[in-house]
Amino acid sequence: MHELSITRNIVAIVNEHAKGERVTEVTLEIGLLSAVLPDSIRFCFDIVAKGTAVEGARLNIIEVAGHGRCRACGQDVELRHPIARCSCGSSDLSRLSGEQLTIKQMVTTPCAQPADAPITPLRG
Ligand SMILES: [Zn+2]
Repeated sequence: MHELSITRNIVAIVNEHAKGERVTEVTLEIGLLSAVLPDSIRFCFDIVAKGTAVEGARLNIIEVAGHGRCRACGQDVELRHPIARCSCGSSDLSRLSGEQLTIKQMVTTPCAQPADAPITPLRG
């Protein structure tokens, strides 16, 4: 599966940046023209993250439209699909962005103090 290898890369990069801390949240930005399915990434994420510092982290996926420029009239065109047409009628567009897959943000917490740890009063 295409998404499985992508997710492996994402988890590997996040693990590397976590430097031993526990990852609680990961935000990805996926271009709508990247042909990557967010649902598949979500599905693979839990499997790949298992047993790593990323296990149990919340995955946020932001889908962003691409941008192109019409070669006929020079107008900027928002690209939500691989096949797009400028308002002037031309489909001769140069693609400027939309295929990116970036790790936008990651939140970590030191292993010793998980943010959601129950606070138990000391006895004795
Ligand atoms: Zn145009």
